[in-house]
Amino acid sequence: MLNKLFEKQIQQTISNAINENLSIISLNPVSGGDINQAYCLESKSKKYFLKINHEKYYAMFCTEAEALQIIATTDSIRVPKVICMGKFSQQSFLVLEFIELNSHGDLALFARQLAKLHLNINAKFGFENDNFIGTTPQKNAWTNNWIEFFNRERISFQLECLKRKNLNRKIVKKIERLLKQLPAFFSGYLPVPALLHGDLWQGNYAFDTFGNPVIYDPASYYGDHETDLAMLELFGHPGADFFQQYAQIFPVDRGYFHRKPLYNLYHIMNHANLFGGSYLQQLDDRVNELLKFTGN
Ligand code: ADP
Repeated sequence: MLNKLFEKQIQQTISNAINENLSIISLNPVSGGDINQAYCLESKSKKYFLKINHEKYYAMFCTEAEALQIIATTDSIRVPKVICMGKFSQQSFLVLEFIELNSHGDLALFARQLAKLHLNINAKFGFENDNFIGTTPQKNAWTNNWIEFFNRERISFQLECLKRKNLNRKIVKKIERLLKQLPAFFSGYLPVPALLHGDLWQGNYAFDTFGNPVIYDPASYYGDHETDLAMLELFGHPGADFFQQYAQIFPVDRGYFHRKPLYNLYHIMNHANLFGGSYLQQLDDRVNELLKFTGN
């Protein structure tokens, strides 16, 4: 149940955004997210998707909206339209178009549309703003060199967060050693700065009622397209056909196989930062595996 005043504020903000008087008929919780409270907000004529969190997460909603809007302009893959956002009484909210989502749909089309999204290439790696991966800040300072970007803005940043949480010194030392070996993963490979979803785990894509792919909850930046592909494989696998379809539009370098565990190290570190527990063991195992690849 939402506080009535807060509900009124949301109603007013949506009304201003759509330029008509909206009246909320029902608000029903939507499950599946791991950070915010989510609702299906129904008015007489339309449904909206509402996300709510503490006021301190307002910046997170703003960067999510910005990424959704940038992806929408590429005309490559469906994303929910951004309606409005706001904060009130120590809470913040984001309102999006509501899309009826299914777990099954046209996976081959998803592969091709994701490749089309990735074909939006920038001159540098990074993004206009810093954003968030989960609730962890994600730095996106413009950088010419991908290895430098991935080292500083991704792994080293997470490492500093883990150090503040008193991560075991042995693992810290190993990650520092690994960082010195990063070029070993990139021999003969020069990635281009591709527009990414940035947090493309299985929970952040689905299909609309026509089977068309939909991606949501992005943490976009311009980076190596392989990072999105790697994350798709972190908790599952979209299947061999997915990769064949994708590669018809955006070829995948043979070295992806070796870089995949490195790219997913970032997300394992983030999970260790956010949730600790078994992710710490997973982190140690992953770092050992990567060091083995570099011969260290
Ligand atoms: P969180 O930021 O808390 O992780 P998500 O943005 O991932 O939340 O959304 C939570 C769940 O709500 C998703 O797993 C998905 O099933 C559903 N969902 C996300 N966006 C929409 C939308 N625009 N319309 C309808 N359902 C959505």
